[in-house]
Amino acid sequence: MTKIERHGPGAPDSSAHAVIHHTPMSADPDEHWMRQALAQAEDAARAGEVPVGAVVVKDGQLIATGRNAPLARHDPSAHAEILALRAAARRLGNYRLDGCSLYVTLEPCAMCSGALLQARLARLVYGAADPRTGAAGSVLDLFGDARLNHQTRVQGGVLADAATCCAAFSASAAAGSGPRRWPATHCATMPCARPMPPLPACRTTPGRRIT
Ligand SMILES: [Zn+2]
Repeated sequence: MTKIERHGPGAPDSSAHAVIHHTPMSADPDEHWMRQALAQAEDAARAGEVPVGAVVVKDGQLIATGRNAPLARHDPSAHAEILALRAAARRLGNYRLDGCSLYVTLEPCAMCSGALLQARLARLVYGAADPRTGAAGSVLDLFGDARLNHQTRVQGGVLADAATCCAAFSASAAAGSGPRRWPATHCATMPCARPMPPLPACRTTPGRRIT
């Protein structure tokens, strides 16, 4: 696994939930929480959405989850990050998510990055980089401008191999070359569409299989 430290000092339906979970912690907390975000991405895939998942963590507790749902909600803003932020804000009773970290499987777009800054998020951790719409350094870098009134620490590349399956599907779906729903069989780590070239990490990383 490669981590990329880029910046910083150092529900109405099942697509968003405010929750408190106490789950066994793996050795690396970032990987632990990213696995929760990947599980949300799997749920998005099952619902026929582009598979992106996010979770919000505060003081070592999972307080909210979100998964991509623009199709089901007829809402272009229903990205996983936005839904997770809304659920977390409801949970905390405050639009400012002080001390919170958001884990998302794919580098946030400009809309979500703006919302993360508005929420005064302490830290963003993402999985795969998004060379098409990523606004945390790939296409834009909204987190790298010191003129903005809030600075959010950013780390990318956490469990990027697994998250890349999601990113690859996202790209193929956007290009119209991939299926809108996951097939019954796919890689063992994440819902990886069969028509796409298999990714080495998908074949070697253990994980759950959707049936
Ligand atoms: Zn977004």
